[in-house]
Amino acid sequence: MSRQRICILGATGSIGASTLAVIRQNPQLFEVAAVTAHANVEAMLAIYHEFKPQTLVMVDADAAASLRVQIDAQEVTILSGAGALIEVAAAPSINTVMAAIVGGAGLLPTLAAVEAGKRVLLANKEALVMSGQLFMDAARRSGAQLLPVDSEHNAIFQCLPTIVQEQLGYCDLAAAGVHEIILTGSGGPFRETPLAELELQSPAAACAHPNWDMGRKISVDSATMMNKGLEYIEARWLFNTAPEQLKVVLHPQSVIHSMVSYHDGSVLAQMGRPDMCTPIAHCLSYPERINSSVKPLNFLEVGSLTFATADAQRYPCLQLAMECCWLGQWATTSLNAANEIAVAAFLAERIGFTDIARVCATTVEAMATVISERELNSIPALLSVDKQAREHATDFIEYSLVQG
Ligand code: NAD
Ligand code: MG
Repeated sequence: MSRQRICILGATGSIGASTLAVIRQNPQLFEVAAVTAHANVEAMLAIYHEFKPQTLVMVDADAAASLRVQIDAQEVTILSGAGALIEVAAAPSINTVMAAIVGGAGLLPTLAAVEAGKRVLLANKEALVMSGQLFMDAARRSGAQLLPVDSEHNAIFQCLPTIVQEQLGYCDLAAAGVHEIILTGSGGPFRETPLAELELQSPAAACAHPNWDMGRKISVDSATMMNKGLEYIEARWLFNTAPEQLKVVLHPQSVIHSMVSYHDGSVLAQMGRPDMCTPIAHCLSYPERINSSVKPLNFLEVGSLTFATADAQRYPCLQLAMECCWLGQWATTSLNAANEIAVAAFLAERIGFTDIARVCATTVEAMATVISERELNSIPALLSVDKQAREHATDFIEYSLVQG
């Protein structure tokens, strides 16, 4: 059997590294054909020397120039610029695309892979949150196979019957006997922090997740639980849920990665250690199973599993995202844009932790008054909303929070 030829978008990130770790364990099955990164030359060089991909993309032009100096470019192609991401994601020689760029920057390349009918391993949840129906329609049209990498969605996918797995985006959950989908979340590093101390939390504290080791943006999203909000929206699109079919439950131990509750009273849960190599290996090998090098779960070490509701006062971003989910595409596109701007400002220590929710709420409110199209029916339309929302969030930060 020939090896799957893989393109890893965002190869130098946390998901990129875990993907390469799983491929390292299974070299007979996978070939790293193309890798992309924003600007990390060191990490890219290390990937090049180990995996020998034929194509490397550095979005940043200076980083690409530096890479060209350090790699003997006889047999490799080194590209730069955002357009090159789209080119490699849709290249005919690629079978499988790992979509692991962080944020809205991943939308167009991920969509290009979907439109080209690839097997798309979706980690970049922001792309789906930004484009929802357009994204799922594109997959249905092209016949692209979507496999959810996000641990919760991967867990849900594993707990659903084959018919649903093969009809992501338009599946009929009720016909498959599903009562509801239960998204679990740990509650992040500030689950027990007194509410009055939340505004004092630093980027370092927000990025110190108790269970998962991730990139900085998603780590902050986990601390605000905006991550669970984005995942709620992601689940709505992937599994075609109605509002009453989707719930969020706190589960601090991160042993159960999510659950599906059926009409007959059965609840299926997917469990494992909190290591992204497990869902990545599942997506890479689906419907087979391969070794991910993750140790089996030891229940005697786990001890007890607990559950709680997510408090709206502690996690306003989660509440806002769940509301936006059912308002229309304009709302989730605006929310995602505002959150990216707010998280970057928080990581740069320009705004406080609790300001993130403030930026998101005021931006969505403002966008509600300027948007005439509730459902965005084209990529240019949603990119325009994305841009306006980013501008609004930036202005709010500059004039109300930083100078205010
Ligand atoms: P990360 O910050 O560690 O890595 C991001 C990658 O994207 C890097 O390779 C970087 O070079 C690239 N990148 C950043 N900005 C870019 C730009 N403007 N253009 C092109 N490339 C750019 O992020 P991560 O934690 O690996 O997360 C990646 C995605 O996967 C996110 O959407 C995140 O929500 C999702 N995800 C991550 C985890 C996790 O455990 N890390 C779990 C579930 C989902
Ligand atoms: Mg997740």
